[in-house]
Amino acid sequence: MPTPGSWIKPHPGGIYVPPGDFWIDPSDPQPLALVTHGHADHARSGHDHVMATPETLAIMETRYGEYAESTPVQHGEVMRVGEVDVSFVPAGHVLGSAQIVMDHAGERVVVSGDYKRRADPTCAPFQPVACDVFITEATFGLPVFRHPDTAGEVEKALEALAANPDRCVLIGAYALGKAQRVIRHLRDLGHHDPIYIHGALERLCSLYGDLGVDLGDLILATGKTKDELRGRIVLSPPGALNDRWSRRLPDPITAMASGWMRIRQRARQRNVELPLIISDHADWDELTGTITEVGPKEVWVTHGREDALLHWCMTRQIKARALHLVGREDEDD
Ligand SMILES: [Zn+2]
Ligand SMILES: [Zn+2]
Repeated sequence: MPTPGSWIKPHPGGIYVPPGDFWIDPSDPQPLALVTHGHADHARSGHDHVMATPETLAIMETRYGEYAESTPVQHGEVMRVGEVDVSFVPAGHVLGSAQIVMDHAGERVVVSGDYKRRADPTCAPFQPVACDVFITEATFGLPVFRHPDTAGEVEKALEALAANPDRCVLIGAYALGKAQRVIRHLRDLGHHDPIYIHGALERLCSLYGDLGVDLGDLILATGKTKDELRGRIVLSPPGALNDRWSRRLPDPITAMASGWMRIRQRARQRNVELPLIISDHADWDELTGTITEVGPKEVWVTHGREDALLHWCMTRQIKARALHLVGREDEDD
């Protein structure tokens, strides 16, 4: 009997599927790429043909310009690619993010892409799919990573603002997914004032709006006076937290929304005064709980801190291996 998933060929630059002659999230340009979501470490430019959800294709178009060829695949639709039945199932990571479910030779293999299990008001929730081989990420694959309640973290930003009406709260957040999620959570907590954004967030925020995620009143922070920005929430990409751009803000309380804020050293490195532990990735309990739920014969770990997860699988009689895909984690937080 062949080993589970023997028809899948993991490669450092992505996952190659010979019976369908396609790649999943390849790092180099390929003739046919199936893309789980729009983050730069998964969705590269330069492929001849891309299959992805309509939202992921729209994100890639916003970031890279038009593709020569693309095939939108709706969540739940089954496409035949070569000898493989392929479907895209929500991954709960960012807008449009999907797991790729493949059926071939009587086996089901699921590539999770990046995922999380907790509620995110900007995207469809992760949907567990029972499978023979579960190919998972492990960005936060250590028991120390247990993300707190998201609303409680966002509330800290509002409390800091209320206590410091002459300052602003500057929140560093990645441009795709995290920024929009933080804004949406702020709205859900009753913050309906304009939120000021760095120019690098503008296009993706407006795309989210076009795709039906209402972010409320957003104003470009560029060119605004210190007085206008007092008592306001301002969002920027993490790289702008400590650069010249932020010096024009009124005595900002520097915050950052990331799963890495669990580690004090990381917060200090970025001079973050208000760490907000908000991650778009599964924490330890979500990783192990998901594996239990989908019940695979084998677990393959694409990237992240895989050792503890491999050990956890082995103590539960689940075969597990690390794939060591390269070039991941550019936007993983
Ligand atoms: Zn991602
Ligand atoms: Zn990633």
